[in-house]
Amino acid sequence: MLKRLVATVALAGLMASPALAQEKFKFALNWFPVGDHAAYWVALDKGYFADPGFETGLSGDIDRSDPDFALWLDQNVHAHKQPGYAIVTISLKPTGGIPGDASADQIRLMADLAKAHSFDELRVTHAQNIVLPHVKKADLYALWQKLDAAGLASANLDLISDIIACPGLDYCSLANARSIPVAQKISERFADLGRQRELGELKLKISGCINACGHHHAGHIGILGVDRKGVENYQLLLGGSEGADTSLGTITGPGFNEDGIVDAVEKATDVYLAQRTDGERFLDTYRRIGMAPFKEAIYG
Ligand code: SF4
Repeated sequence: MLKRLVATVALAGLMASPALAQEKFKFALNWFPVGDHAAYWVALDKGYFADPGFETGLSGDIDRSDPDFALWLDQNVHAHKQPGYAIVTISLKPTGGIPGDASADQIRLMADLAKAHSFDELRVTHAQNIVLPHVKKADLYALWQKLDAAGLASANLDLISDIIACPGLDYCSLANARSIPVAQKISERFADLGRQRELGELKLKISGCINACGHHHAGHIGILGVDRKGVENYQLLLGGSEGADTSLGTITGPGFNEDGIVDAVEKATDVYLAQRTDGERFLDTYRRIGMAPFKEAIYG
């Protein structure tokens, strides 16, 4: 029974993150049932980890003739284990928007789309986006058109504007500094999607205080809001990762004001573009060349 639970929960986890759709991982409980595992056993009993009723014999072909749709496909849609299906991530990171925000109409639309196209299922990701986990490939274009009409078709998953930002000083009483305006300014600075795609995978995370709800310490680029004698100040960190290659980011040096931190982020990306070798992500280049060239560009 335990083995079955491990296998099925692992599958559920696998489906929960499109970025990990091809990657297996284990979810292990203790070797005996204990109270805090009750929810998993109950969920298993109720069939929550069972596959939905997938159709078989579906075509895997997708018409990519609309270039905007093709871009979104490449960035926000991932492989599914079931032939004929795909995993869709709806980005809640429009240019200049508040990361993770959606209007009431957008939320209603996403619920309707989940009902119509994903076995009534949608998932909220830790990266402040929404996943429709089981969409027929044949439905993708119609789905994208509805998302596009509602302002929900940003093709920026895992790019620099796909920022995780905590509520910060705008909403959180523990905060030292605001997170949301910094995220908005960075999103606007890198508004050009071609430029973002040129930079490739780049996970930028912002926390408004050391509690780190925005996971700044695990961002390829992290920003931490601190209080400097009553003034909002932002530390920049480089080299963090939340992935299988986990690492903690390192602080570059003295902090910046709100505009200065946006400039510093841009300088860090310039160093990456100048120094990268074929196929290197920002994180790979940072790990190869170290902090010194970035410091020089940012403070020099
Ligand atoms: S990191 Fe700090 S400011 Fe941000 S939500 Fe958490 S406690 Fe609040």
